[in-house]
Amino acid sequence: MIRRAVAGGALAGLWCGALDSMLATAADPTGYPSLLSFFLAFVILAVVVGAAYALLAVAARLLLPGALRKDPGAYSLSLATFLVSLFTLSRIAGLDAISAIRENPSSAAVELGAILLLSFLAGAGSWLLVARISPSPSRDRRIAIAAFLGAGCLSAAAFAAVLMHIPSYDADVAISTPPAERALPDNAPFRHVILLTIDTLRKDAVTAYDPDGAGTPHIDSLANDSIVFENAFSSAPWTVPAFVSMFTGLPPDVHGINRNFPTLPPTFRTLAEHMAGAGYQTAAIGSQPQLLRIGRGFDTYQLGPSPPVVHSQTTAGRLFNRLAQQDWTTEVITDLAVQWLDEHGGDDFFLWLHWLAPHVPYEPPPAYLPQSPLIGKLGQSFEGVSSVHAGREIRTPSEREWLRILYDAEVRYTDDAVGRVLESLQRLGIYDDALVIFTTDHGEEFWDHGHWEHGHSLYDELVAVPLFIKLPGAAEATRIGAPVSTTALLSTILDLCGAELPDDRSIVGSLKPSLDGASPTRTPVYMGAVEYFEPREGVVFDDFKYIVGVASGHEELYDRAEDAAEQDSLVGSHLGELERGRAILEKRTRPSPAGEPAPDSAGDVAPSDEVQEQLRALGYVE
Ligand SMILES: [Zn+2]
Repeated sequence: MIRRAVAGGALAGLWCGALDSMLATAADPTGYPSLLSFFLAFVILAVVVGAAYALLAVAARLLLPGALRKDPGAYSLSLATFLVSLFTLSRIAGLDAISAIRENPSSAAVELGAILLLSFLAGAGSWLLVARISPSPSRDRRIAIAAFLGAGCLSAAAFAAVLMHIPSYDADVAISTPPAERALPDNAPFRHVILLTIDTLRKDAVTAYDPDGAGTPHIDSLANDSIVFENAFSSAPWTVPAFVSMFTGLPPDVHGINRNFPTLPPTFRTLAEHMAGAGYQTAAIGSQPQLLRIGRGFDTYQLGPSPPVVHSQTTAGRLFNRLAQQDWTTEVITDLAVQWLDEHGGDDFFLWLHWLAPHVPYEPPPAYLPQSPLIGKLGQSFEGVSSVHAGREIRTPSEREWLRILYDAEVRYTDDAVGRVLESLQRLGIYDDALVIFTTDHGEEFWDHGHWEHGHSLYDELVAVPLFIKLPGAAEATRIGAPVSTTALLSTILDLCGAELPDDRSIVGSLKPSLDGASPTRTPVYMGAVEYFEPREGVVFDDFKYIVGVASGHEELYDRAEDAAEQDSLVGSHLGELERGRAILEKRTRPSPAGEPAPDSAGDVAPSDEVQEQLRALGYVE
């Protein structure tokens, strides 16, 4: 009995593991599950399915003693088939049981009912099959095991075939010169370049931008020493495409990456690769698991919580990662950053630090919470993301106010971390001469347009971002009002460092001329790569923002000077500006369909004069 349960469960687990890996591979062909993932999937699912098998077997022994004695092999096979079908169908349906049931109980119940019925039919079918072809119980057990092993081998073969057709991207550090041999030219303008980013940082939470902000004295002190961009925009309203744009200089319609855990196509040369090529040591420290595989060019890439031991898209992978990961708190990141600076302060370096704290879940340390009756009433933290999206929680104005209080506390908490790093730079005597850039990947909506969180729109609460650049010495506080994109950071940082600018016309041009005091050229700023709902694109030009739905063609036009909250679309009344927005987006050249790596635009095919003229008009060519 126990032996059969172990064997049946292990075989069912093998099958589930193979299917799980294949389904994950089919869903994300660039992030193939490793052999380790496959093995872990098998072990974890063998234990889980084996336990379920044993439970059902014990139940059957009590309920159906006669049938079990008569046809033990048929029973084993049908039970295992039932479990494998249940797992596979649930996986294909994308039914993440607990959250799905909480979000939409009635449709989840129908789906679950259908899955149970189909699984039961599969189990009953396999029973009949074995009972029919096998005259004796002992033969019948052998047939059942053979059938299962056969299915397992077939699954493994299919899995291997899928693996062989996956393009392999080299996500490893790809720098030819080892750090010890790199050297900056003597006349390099900066020996220390530090990019500070805070995930999900709403522009109006930074007090340097809004006196009613969360209270960010350390970030504000950096802003006071910097040139502040008053109208900076992210290329996208969520993490991955926004950072890919920053690190490749490519707008999202060119890089085409709009999904989690991407690797970068080899044709993209990253900011870190350029900086290593220019002679800097490169390091990244922070927390953002979605970015674990875009670290090409960094000598050190410590982007916690931990390296993806197993593929995160597999069921077993998610389970395993949840158990194995330790939380990289803001303190851990800051400690690592300070330690890294202590060890490398004398080197020529490019360091990127990224804090995740203001991102959901909102769990600020209690010391950062204000005195508020809402905290006493509703609690000190919140993590029910899916139930808010489903409209089941946080429906009253005071609950919404409470969430904003928690978020602002997270911002103050992270501001203290920024303060520790700035203090460390000052203590090491490298603050004054360092190039420091501060920004975020996107903001956070608090029902400004009827929603919460981020990823879903191109309104300012998500795409207008803080951006400031500290040059050597305490600069006169300067503010630049022209709209700019954080996609320009690659060119800007390389330009400021005197490094060679990439010869790629798709890469957004440098902001250095406006930092040098040249009157800023007002080039349109492109944004796209919306994560949820309809794909949309937008462009900011002069004081206007134009947004269009890619499928529906639904258009919006806002006068940013008159209507900063973007509440009244002017589509019906401002035909001139509407035409201009349409024309800017229509003129954009798209080198590749979304989702595909863009071809290497520095290759041997030069754009036509007409295309070059369009790129110049859009600000992509100087
Ligand atoms: Zn983010």
